[in-house]
Amino acid sequence: MNSNTESNVVWHNTSVSKEDRERLLNQKGIVIWFTGLSGAGKSTVANALSVKLHNNSYFTYLLDGDNLRHGLNSNLGFSKEDRVENIRRVKEVANLFADAGVIILATFISPFREDRNSVRELLGDRFVEVFVDCDLEVCEDRDPKGLYKKARTGLIKDFTGIDSPYEKPEKPEITINTHKSTIDQCVQQIIDYLKERRYLNRG
Ligand code: ADP
Repeated sequence: MNSNTESNVVWHNTSVSKEDRERLLNQKGIVIWFTGLSGAGKSTVANALSVKLHNNSYFTYLLDGDNLRHGLNSNLGFSKEDRVENIRRVKEVANLFADAGVIILATFISPFREDRNSVRELLGDRFVEVFVDCDLEVCEDRDPKGLYKKARTGLIKDFTGIDSPYEKPEKPEITINTHKSTIDQCVQQIIDYLKERRYLNRG
């Protein structure tokens, strides 16, 4: 419930339905949500997966945490309050895309279980949570953007895993371990799951 659901703003039904769009696209609109520490491999695996799906004629779109912070979420920082608002906005955008029939790959640290669960609540069976599991030491060692180094020296505050918590998913649909598996193996693991659950109907 928000001020608009209680007021005179009335939902407008449209004549072309989600099912119509999905038929046109020959796919189901879903959100594949990658969560994990910075440097765990969310963007890398999501990117490799999107290439594979795209090459099999699936219509995909990657929603990247860092990229969205340059636009839609450019006025948000990393306090608890801002992180919650960050995910709330992304959740709504992802829901619109899924409703449009697109396969969304969302890469967000999204450290709080409650926020991720609120995405699950909104999307129901269109939400596939992928826990990108990788030990903090490995992420810190990779440090692809040099952020851990800055966090350790105090140049960045509220950094997940250092001075801000990360709550692991309790029951993710998929767990990939980027320390033990190669990028290709992680991608294949996700594709196998999506096919098994009939989220994908071809290659
Ligand atoms: P995140 O999006 O989670 O912050 P990135 O994808 O930006 O993480 O960075 C992960 C880094 O780890 C990249 O430099 C990537 O090349 C490296 N890496 C090494 N092995 C793997 C793997 N198996 N899966 C994903 N990334 C890996």
